[in-house]
Amino acid sequence: SIQAVASPFRSYLIDLHEKYQSLTDGAVADYIPELALATPEWFGICAITSKGQEFEVGDCDKLFTIQSISKAFVYGLALEDCGREYVNSKVSVEPTGEAFNSIVLDEKTNRPYNPMVNAGAIATTDLIRGNSATERLKRVLEMFRCYTGRELDLNVPVFLSEKATGNRNRAIAYLMLNFGMISDRIEETLDLYFQQCSIMVNARDLGMMAATLANGGVNPVTQERALDERYVQDVISVMLTCGMYDYSGEWIYKVGMPAKSGVGGGITALVPGKLGIGTFSPPLDAKGNSVRGIKVCEDLARDFGLHLFNVA
Ligand code: GLU
Repeated sequence: SIQAVASPFRSYLIDLHEKYQSLTDGAVADYIPELALATPEWFGICAITSKGQEFEVGDCDKLFTIQSISKAFVYGLALEDCGREYVNSKVSVEPTGEAFNSIVLDEKTNRPYNPMVNAGAIATTDLIRGNSATERLKRVLEMFRCYTGRELDLNVPVFLSEKATGNRNRAIAYLMLNFGMISDRIEETLDLYFQQCSIMVNARDLGMMAATLANGGVNPVTQERALDERYVQDVISVMLTCGMYDYSGEWIYKVGMPAKSGVGGGITALVPGKLGIGTFSPPLDAKGNSVRGIKVCEDLARDFGLHLFNVA
């Protein structure tokens, strides 16, 4: 396999992994007990070119919950299901600078600000088609199978715990129902939202998902299409402007890659047309982004000139 082949890039990643393994800043998410079980030392880096060449180091098989990273991909499915115009009428694409779970809607249109904050993500999940809750979940899982190239499972204890404690998300959903922005199958949609957040992935999966977007929506290994070509640009755009919580502006400035993070410790980042990156390290900074994951992407952007607006 490619990992066995000595390559300068792989050596670089090994050094990078070693450099940041000793960084112990940040804290593992603990808003539900299941997430607090994560080991702070877990650390994996995976990079996959848009042609499917794979490089990985560290804990790239370790499974964790995808959490908010799911939001970007479910947004793509909603675009396929309902079209751009309708989706835009329900969810805006404006960054907020607010925390991911803020209870705030656009005053003029009552739309949630963007699909990456919880309000916008719940409104997006509401748009996923299917005749039953089971069918809607199946469609979401099938989409992730196309991106990752393998069947994914739910972490059921995480799902049940999110559902049991998710009253803030419930409040956000009811506020949107009040404004007629989502349908009244509230509990079904919240279940699907909590389920999509509870899907288990590893760093390699996140690398492959990013590589698939970087490759125009086609998984570069399986050659299966995961996202209609006409919506790839939409998904990548909201990742760039809103993907890293209320750190998104600084992230664009410093790293310059469309990305999405989740409180499980994952980050998926890409260089369109070139590369997908998946990182996993559970300790988070105050804004909810993986501390080591941010460092890894900063170094990669700087050392290989991967910033989107690099003109050197
Ligand atoms: N399931 C989490 C929530 O809705 C997502 C947290 C995250 O990754 O931002 O609160």
